[in-house]
Amino acid sequence: MQYVKEILVGGKSLIIGLWITLKRLFKPIVTVQYPRQKLTMTPNFRGHIEFIRFDDTKTHHCVACGLCARTCPSHVIKVQGEKTRAGDLKYGRQYYIDFSKCSLCGLCVDVCPECTLQFSKEYEYVFYHRWDTVLDIMGRLEGKR
Ligand code: SF4
Ligand code: SF4
Repeated sequence: MQYVKEILVGGKSLIIGLWITLKRLFKPIVTVQYPRQKLTMTPNFRGHIEFIRFDDTKTHHCVACGLCARTCPSHVIKVQGEKTRAGDLKYGRQYYIDFSKCSLCGLCVDVCPECTLQFSKEYEYVFYHRWDTVLDIMGRLEGKR
């Protein structure tokens, strides 16, 4: 009798499992075959910060005011600029972040008076060394040309 009962219980769980599989078969696929396929990140996704390239200058609008670096609670940003002529505005020349310390809080993006910062959509980061997390943000913008 016990034997028959076990067969019935096993058969019931098998049918439940098959029913769940059958239902899933006709639902939309929500995963992708990574890394052959890649997802497009949502507009609110936050990768590391990067410069926006503007159409008028074909590059960023950073004037190296240092406001982002002073506002950053984690002291992630190092920025340097130069003036080409006396009386001119400074122009950002070097911009580095230590991504390992960034909390993606967004204060630097919000505070920039030139609105030249945004969050990138990059999510594939693997670092082998602590110092690999220091990213040359200006160089990355130039490299994307
Ligand atoms: S997102 Fe926040 S922690 Fe990251 S660099 Fe900007 S201000 Fe600093
Ligand atoms: S706040 Fe904006 S303009 Fe000022 S240094 Fe940072 S990125 Fe450049």
